[in-house]
Amino acid sequence: MMTEIHPQTLLAALAIEYMALTLVTFPAWGSSPSGTGMARWSLGNACLAGSMALLSQRGIAPGVLTVVLANALLIFGAHCVHMAVRQLYEAPPATVFAQLPPFLAWLALALIWAFDPSPNHLAWAPWRVVAFSAALVWSAGGTTLALFRRAPRPWSLGTWYVFVAMCMPVAAQFIRVLNYIGPVKPHDPVVAQATALPLYAAFAGCGVFMTYGFFLLINDRLQAQLRAANARLTEDAATDPLTQVSNRRHLEAVASKEIGRAKRYRWPLSLLMLDLDHFKRVNDRYGHAVGDEVLRSVASVCQRHLRGHDLVARIGGEEFAILLPQSDAVGAEVSARRLLHEIRETKIDALDGAAVTVSIGIATLDGQDAGVHHLLQRADSALYRAKAAGRDRVVVSTSDP
Ligand code: GH3
Ligand code: MG
Ligand code: MG
Repeated sequence: MMTEIHPQTLLAALAIEYMALTLVTFPAWGSSPSGTGMARWSLGNACLAGSMALLSQRGIAPGVLTVVLANALLIFGAHCVHMAVRQLYEAPPATVFAQLPPFLAWLALALIWAFDPSPNHLAWAPWRVVAFSAALVWSAGGTTLALFRRAPRPWSLGTWYVFVAMCMPVAAQFIRVLNYIGPVKPHDPVVAQATALPLYAAFAGCGVFMTYGFFLLINDRLQAQLRAANARLTEDAATDPLTQVSNRRHLEAVASKEIGRAKRYRWPLSLLMLDLDHFKRVNDRYGHAVGDEVLRSVASVCQRHLRGHDLVARIGGEEFAILLPQSDAVGAEVSARRLLHEIRETKIDALDGAAVTVSIGIATLDGQDAGVHHLLQRADSALYRAKAAGRDRVVVSTSDP
């Protein structure tokens, strides 16, 4: 047999629960990174705790406290929760102008109810309830809308927890308004009747789910920020800041992997070493900034005219290495000649429409190559020979240096 629980007892239990939730969220306020909305959330929990405590004293303490102040705290608590979720998703604060008219209408009617002992106020009860519901649903519904619009999809567990918890007060207010439309009832069915018990029990669960869900949402956001920062760092660590192509470190890492693969599967692999011809003269004549522009232009021509899985890297001042996986000496020479041609044909605005030329050394992986450094060395020797032979040409490394 079930023990009968008085609604007021359950409301007191809810007050204790929200107080506990305030206590767990309050210290997190200080330790959470700013902008997570934790301060607002904690304040929301405190308001809800105060509201439940006052509601539990209904019939004992004056109505101005147990109804007017209690419900005002409820609306403000829901507003804080809404603002916390908006802050977490970096949404602009919600406008209160739409919420104010129903709130003020409710406040006026509630004060009349509290201070007018005659039963006249009963005629206004449905309006009071409708105004209160509108003010509360604006915040709780606004929170669900904010989640709909801004929570990353697919929804995480935290999003579902907060969403379902927010649907509770919205549903409760609809039930309440439906109850009040029709013959006026002398007692508020949500507060005074035993039928409200399942609703309170649901609210008890919703408080915990809501706050736990909000912690999960903060965790989701911090994890996403961490992933993005890691991706940026990884990208930065692999990129040459001037030309935005890969740097030497990244080239060496990728080349060692590709060389391992090429040896295992007996695939060909080639490496080009490209150096701008007489680049010092460009700097001397046009200045260092124009020289930088030329380097960017050459890097971009290389990237545009190679295959997607070829890797361009700037490995020295005006020196680029280009890894060509699955290219044999013949294929690599075709690619190198194409680059030579394209660079020579590219008119550079910063050089008043003139172009630059490059020399390229090619090394193709053979059984003798110990690794990436040996391959780079062979390509470099071929490049040296291209320079010695008059520049603006391609030389293929034929034997070990
Ligand atoms: P070569 O045909 O023999 O390669 O002649 P070069 O003038 O290109 O070669 P050298 O090694 O004599 O000079 C390279 C020049 O590259 C010298 C240096 O001022 C320039 N340089 C190196 N790094 C940068 C850079 O980041 N920006 C600019 N603008 N110039 C650079
Ligand atoms: Mg040079
Ligand atoms: Mg050089």
